[in-house]
Amino acid sequence: MTPGVRPLVAGNWKMNGLSAALGEIQAMREAVDQGAAGLAELAVCPPATLLAPAAARLAGGALALGAQDCHAQPSGAFTGDISAPMLKDIGCAYVIVGHSERRAGHAETDAQVRAKAEAAIRAGLTAIVCVGETHEEREAGREAEIVGGQVKASLPSVASALTLVVAYEPIWAIGTGVTPTAANVAEMHGAIRGWLVGLYGEAGASVRILYGGSVKASNAKEFLGLPNVDGALVGGASLKASDFVAIAATYA
Ligand code: PEP
Repeated sequence: MTPGVRPLVAGNWKMNGLSAALGEIQAMREAVDQGAAGLAELAVCPPATLLAPAAARLAGGALALGAQDCHAQPSGAFTGDISAPMLKDIGCAYVIVGHSERRAGHAETDAQVRAKAEAAIRAGLTAIVCVGETHEEREAGREAEIVGGQVKASLPSVASALTLVVAYEPIWAIGTGVTPTAANVAEMHGAIRGWLVGLYGEAGASVRILYGGSVKASNAKEFLGLPNVDGALVGGASLKASDFVAIAATYA
């Protein structure tokens, strides 16, 4: 945790969830409104098809809504894409950009990720920018070089704690059940904090840095209490309200 910084636990549903899953979002909202997340902020990022009905269910409550990607342009001839102003318009507060599955599966570059993050901020959203190294890069001892390069090239040129969240997600820990050691996470988050202060000055000291990669209720405590770990980005364990809320309850 970073003193004075409100933690964020964000759930990335990826390409999962039909209308029937809206009941889970409703249950998350009820739990959050009853104080289950303690001092933490909770956000859920369902697939684009569920954003509008989820927004209707979340209106007036404390559970925030986020999307999983946005286009860098506000509108235009971009078939199939969704812009940041569109996400803001339907009630999103957050958008994830640069998730490793988009960097790998859609060949998104650092420059594209930065353009998306800047578009998100222009639209009044908070960008959750993901960074992380592959297993091979860590084995080669290059994780700081890789993550440092991503931070410097894919973060927006101007940002604050209100507009930017960074998620450190070692790619080899995503969806695998394998996690780095607490020492590894603390070391990388400390390095990211240093880069953020270098980029944004004092504002960089309070930008939230989330850990992501196989976080679940049983290991959340191990990571969420570390210095400069200001919450979690959660994939698989965010699909069920009970699992997701149990992670946030670490802060209760
Ligand atoms: C993710 O998709 O960002 C993620 C961290 O997934 P999981 O928690 O399933 O590893």
